[in-house]
Amino acid sequence: MKTSVDSREVRRHHLRAVFLGPPGSGKGTQAAAVCERMGLARVATGDMLRANVKEGTELGKKADAFMKAGKLVPDELVMAMLFERLQKRDCLVGFVLDGFPRNKAQAEALDREGFAPDVVLHFVIEDAAIVKRIEGRQVCGKCGANYHRAFRPAKKAGVCDACGGELLTRKDDNPESVKERLKVYHAEADALVEYYKRQGKARDLVADRPAEKITEDALRVLESARPSAE
Ligand code: AMP
Repeated sequence: MKTSVDSREVRRHHLRAVFLGPPGSGKGTQAAAVCERMGLARVATGDMLRANVKEGTELGKKADAFMKAGKLVPDELVMAMLFERLQKRDCLVGFVLDGFPRNKAQAEALDREGFAPDVVLHFVIEDAAIVKRIEGRQVCGKCGANYHRAFRPAKKAGVCDACGGELLTRKDDNPESVKERLKVYHAEADALVEYYKRQGKARDLVADRPAEKITEDALRVLESARPSAE
């Protein structure tokens, strides 16, 4: 097995992207599609936190109540978990961050720690469309693949097409939590988008369209943002 990463390989593939958008905007689905096509690591802080809750780790115990209520988990907990993850080998060739940063402090920390993104995709969609989307959302309990009862149904109801795992509804996909999560998102989002616009890195993506169209656009933007291999 190959144990070290060839530096030429790193330069060729290296791309760091942030997917930024409200809950239910399709970030997760798009991040998975783009990472598969481009060979990047998908790093989703929500998935990592849910795994910690499921395993009952100290972090999971601390995060659980915040997540159920639709509130942000405290920055220092999420950052420690994320920066450890970004040191892993698979991230060396590039990554897509899904669900981080959630506020300006997290964005600044990302830059400070040496993980500044090359490009930021901003998923733009109305709240009303989101509420509809989240209502039918399902996630595989085993591999984390995303489904939707109406828009992206599994071939066999309740069973993951990819791994046969059981499809579940997230605990925080209930109307009260969704309302709170949208409120939390809007409280921070403008400052965050502005932060990346000022750096010339933010690109708006109209997210209320068929998934394949969004994937095409996302791939195009990401490819053009890939740092040149010198
Ligand atoms: P998500 O799967 O991205 O919708 O995240 C689910 C929940 O995990 C959020 O509602 C927060 O409670 C928590 N979470 C995920 N990412 C972060 C983050 N970057 N900062 C704080 N809390 C987070």
